Amino acid sequence: MGGSPDPYDFDAVVVGAGAVGLACAYALALRGRSVVVIEREGGIGEGVSSRNSEVIHAGLYYPTGSLKARLCVDGRRRLYAFLKAHGVAQLRCGKLVVASEASQIVAVEAILQQAKENGVEGVRLLDARDARAMEPELRVVLALESLETGILDSHGYMLALQGEIEDHGGAVVVSTPFVGAAPLAQGGFGVRTGGEQPTTVACRMLVIAAGLGAQAAAATVEGYPAECIPALHYGKGVYFAYHGHAPFQRLIYPPPIPGALGVHYRRDLGGQARFGPDLAFVDNEDYSVDPARAAGFYDYIRHFWPGLPDGALTPDYAGIRPKLHGPGEPQPDFRLDGPELHGLDGLVALFGIESPGLTSSLAIGEAVADRLSG
Ligand SMILES: Cc1cc2nc3c(=O)[nH]c(=O)nc-3n(C[C@H](O)[C@H](O)[C@H](O)COP(=O)(O)OP(=O)(O)OC[C@H]3O[C@@H](n4cnc5c(N)ncnc54)[C@H](O)[C@@H]3O)c2cc1C
Repeated sequence: MGGSPDPYDFDAVVVGAGAVGLACAYALALRGRSVVVIEREGGIGEGVSSRNSEVIHAGLYYPTGSLKARLCVDGRRRLYAFLKAHGVAQLRCGKLVVASEASQIVAVEAILQQAKENGVEGVRLLDARDARAMEPELRVVLALESLETGILDSHGYMLALQGEIEDHGGAVVVSTPFVGAAPLAQGGFGVRTGGEQPTTVACRMLVIAAGLGAQAAAATVEGYPAECIPALHYGKGVYFAYHGHAPFQRLIYPPPIPGALGVHYRRDLGGQARFGPDLAFVDNEDYSVDPARAAGFYDYIRHFWPGLPDGALTPDYAGIRPKLHGPGEPQPDFRLDGPELHGLDGLVALFGIESPGLTSSLAIGEAVADRLSG
């Protein structure tokens, strides 16, 4: 009987094996789609997903109704369940957003209001006495406690996603850069890959989840209107490690700075205490940590932790946020751009997936799969 052979090699090609690309492929694979993730580096998770704070955000800050607000809250709930089901290390350690002086109280109260509007569970205000009973070394006049904030092993998470994709018949191929795509007459795309064995594969759907490479990847898709590709800005943030006994149990955040959540305190799952990231707009992907930035860190941290000893901070690592805004400009929402914007059926391109992208990844994956199913 046999009809004509399937002209497609895969239902979906996902560009980029960071947390978000893997989560998109996972969501598609769960829906029975054949999927391949192509990654230009030699391993998964070598981009933004391995240079962040590894914080599971509760969803406190983001404007009501924004993708960030919705996908962070939904993604956080999905993420805790996924990590538990897959035995990936996590700790729901909680966090305090701290006003250390009276002038910051309004900002902390506004965050509580925003968190409630975003449907975040487990938030309440603490007076100075209660906050210090929890974290005796804090300088605090008022704090917001968020019980749902936590930390995770982000690489373990991405390995679990890869395992799920493969268990559902999908594939993750590394050392395979995406070099371009062209729409096919019958629908879908011919996707060209580079690397040692360049090839072209046909797919029905294409997802660009390339982090800092998203704009460049979209520009190589034939017919993608240049005016629909947003400008990319590199928002660098550096971390300093604290060598001493971890001073706090919970994550400690001052109120946010323009364009980022600002330097905060956390300890990782191994107990290492760190402060960061700050925000500096840079021109290229440079991950060095300038030791001179420590001076600003000491001043900033001592507002909420006066006990920080001299000489206790050492340069650690840096990450770069794929930002859609420059200095002084308002911080835009995530962009999940579909055909209504760029006109190419079967293509979703993700731009500006900065924080809370790791937390939101499973919800972003669902949203992308929904759009492609629609
Ligand atoms: C300093 C910092 C702190 C952060 N802290 C947090 C936090 O605590 N909590 C949180 O939720 N979020 C946080 N984030 C945000 C979070 O890390 C990102 O939103 C998330 O990791 C983005 O994942 P991604 O998969 O989109 O990007 P990436 O992890 O960068 O993955 C994209 C992948 O695409 C690949 N790629 C690019 N171009 C091509 C190509 N042409 N062909 C093939 N592959 C390609 C790259 O090599 C990369 O592996 C932070 C970000 C930064 C920078």
